[in-house]
Amino acid sequence: MQLIAITGTFCSGKSIAAEFFHTHLGYRPLSKDSELKGNYYTLDLLEIPSKAYPCFVLKVDAPTLSRFKWSKMHSLEDFLSRDQVTTEEVFPDCCIVNSSDLESFKSKLAQVPQIMQRQLHPESDSYFMRVSFLAAKRSNCMKQPVGAAVVVNNRLKSTGYNGCPFRTKNCCEGGCKRCNEGAPEGTRLEECQCLHGELSAILMAEDCRNGTLYTTLFPCLNCTKNVILSGIKEVVYWKDYHAAESKILLERVGIRTRKCFPFPPKAL
Ligand SMILES: [Zn+2]
Ligand SMILES: [Zn+2]
Repeated sequence: MQLIAITGTFCSGKSIAAEFFHTHLGYRPLSKDSELKGNYYTLDLLEIPSKAYPCFVLKVDAPTLSRFKWSKMHSLEDFLSRDQVTTEEVFPDCCIVNSSDLESFKSKLAQVPQIMQRQLHPESDSYFMRVSFLAAKRSNCMKQPVGAAVVVNNRLKSTGYNGCPFRTKNCCEGGCKRCNEGAPEGTRLEECQCLHGELSAILMAEDCRNGTLYTTLFPCLNCTKNVILSGIKEVVYWKDYHAAESKILLERVGIRTRKCFPFPPKAL
């Protein structure tokens, strides 16, 4: 079952979107009696039953003057006062900007089911990478947050994030002088008291052999040496780091590396 809630600004094309999902993709309008089997759409966010979770929120927006034209209202002043009343504050999963003609609006709408699928049912790669992104939220480092996960035979073995070691003062509470003084990336690492997310995940896993390390940042040289020692065979990362030596070393020992961003696009 999939539920898409369509929201957005006044006269931006929400009804056209609903009609598109109904006619071309077979989505049915959600009602109180819906059995929640199959795919539904609603134009009313308040109508969503709690058991319909997860729901995909699609926001439709368009330039103000286009919306005024489509509203067929006579006065721009009247339109703007109506516009303010209907503007909702929502955090959409995806936003479509209806800024051109109907055909391009429809071609954007046609991409939504795939984005929705990726968002609501991530494949294993995206899933483990998202776990790393979640781990990064636990970071207590003053520098950039980094999260990592070790996966062996498609099973999550451990997670890690950067910050001062357990039982010591957190980096964000002044625990690490180097990070708190804002040392540039890759410098003064010898005096850094923070443990990196990748190393933390490796240390927390019982056995990393033949596993995959998911990490939000490409590993530094020290983490790379630990990756090699641990028996990890693949590194999946999101953000690049100036770590030419890490790359050379990983390549030399035959550890695969590849980039992965686990979230579908937020705007079309
Ligand atoms: Zn730190
Ligand atoms: Zn590192």
